[in-house]
Amino acid sequence: MIVCKTKQELKQALASRNAQETIGFVPTMGALHEGHASLFKRARAENDVFVASVFVNPIQFNNPEDLKNYPRDFEADRKLLEENGCDIVFAPSVEEMYPEGEPLKSYSFGALETVMEGAQRPGHFKGVGVVVGLLFELVRPDRAYFGEKDFQQVAVIQDLVRQMGIKTRIVPCPIKRGEDGLALSSRNALLTPENRALAPKIHAALKKSSEMANRSCREVKEFVCGQIAAVPEMKLEYFEIARPDTLQTVPDEAPAQGNVGFIVVWMGKVRLIDNIRY
Ligand code: AMP
Repeated sequence: MIVCKTKQELKQALASRNAQETIGFVPTMGALHEGHASLFKRARAENDVFVASVFVNPIQFNNPEDLKNYPRDFEADRKLLEENGCDIVFAPSVEEMYPEGEPLKSYSFGALETVMEGAQRPGHFKGVGVVVGLLFELVRPDRAYFGEKDFQQVAVIQDLVRQMGIKTRIVPCPIKRGEDGLALSSRNALLTPENRALAPKIHAALKKSSEMANRSCREVKEFVCGQIAAVPEMKLEYFEIARPDTLQTVPDEAPAQGNVGFIVVWMGKVRLIDNIRY
């Protein structure tokens, strides 16, 4: 596995490959776990060359404390990437990624970036668009793999590829969960043991609510909000039922079926995100 710290090293590593070979790419922020590994395995299996990036992107954090506390362990990341057959890992510094004085190419995602994560985390998707756009320009992947844990992000990235006019195919990958149902996340490591033990109740509530798919969104929302409110350690930021394509909310009286339930719950200082298809 070649580790590239600069754009120049990455360009050289990519140039040494046969131009006919397909490139599969997985962008990450590190603190890698089995959720990331499920994307790595697909990228490895479906392409000649598997490229990953590890970069904690400061401009997609709207909360400085979240950025400061974000877990980082490059040696462990390198090991997991190697175990998963990664050919090239790009792990630049912030200065390398965003040299001072160099203008950033920014994108707008319209209604996709004004709801849910976009509404709660102002500027988040702008930052995601800048970094993924830059990474796509550098790597020029044939396929890029994104987790459906960040469902809204997948829609934003699909729009990014349309705007950039590149041929990269976006491959959405299912949410990888722990045996107890909790969606794997780098932030799970920041939970206290007590909160970690309670956190699977988020998915449990969503799973139970999927049995009510033919009921109205209002009933499903009441159920999920009630389940979260019953756990004093949890604070619901939002639960919305929205269309999988436009991400716009569904009227309360319409059935949940065919839509997606999106949830964010705080436990202490940790923000947990999950979703479920109805
Ligand atoms: P991150 O490092 O959090 O930016 O995540 C990098 C990629 O891994 C994103 O496309 C995430 O959606 C994806 N990912 C993170 N956790 C999971 C998970 N539990 N299951 C599937 N994909 C995931």
